Amino acid sequence: MTGGKPEDIGTDRQRRSVSPYRAGFNCVCPACAGAPLFNNLLEVKASCPACGFDLSEADPGDGAQVFVIFVIGALSALLGILLYAFFGMPLWLLALLLGLFVLVGSIWMLRIFKATLIALQFMHEAQEGRLVEKDRSDD
Ligand SMILES: [Zn+2]
Repeated sequence: MTGGKPEDIGTDRQRRSVSPYRAGFNCVCPACAGAPLFNNLLEVKASCPACGFDLSEADPGDGAQVFVIFVIGALSALLGILLYAFFGMPLWLLALLLGLFVLVGSIWMLRIFKATLIALQFMHEAQEGRLVEKDRSDD
């Protein structure tokens, strides 16, 4: 299975058996699940080293960040309230713990959400919108 060019996306999709959610959670290639998707923490590789699938077209935009902000924001607020109410932690310790939670949790969740959005894009063949030329002979 090679390529990721627009013309062979359809045939690739039929041969793919990787769940986009499993590929996303494990942060692996959406086509073969045989290699990691990221170069470092959050940079998507240009192509899969295992199957050569072209990942340069992958563009989850800001979608993953929005999800992560909502989820981590709600969780950190809840965690802060619980820690303060039940353990009476000093505010400086709460700020330190929640800061660490937000930093580590955001990067971890961003990897998963970004990989899942990319896998879903490839599964559903999502592409940039294109205008269809209208026949203007009537004008
Ligand atoms: Zn691959």
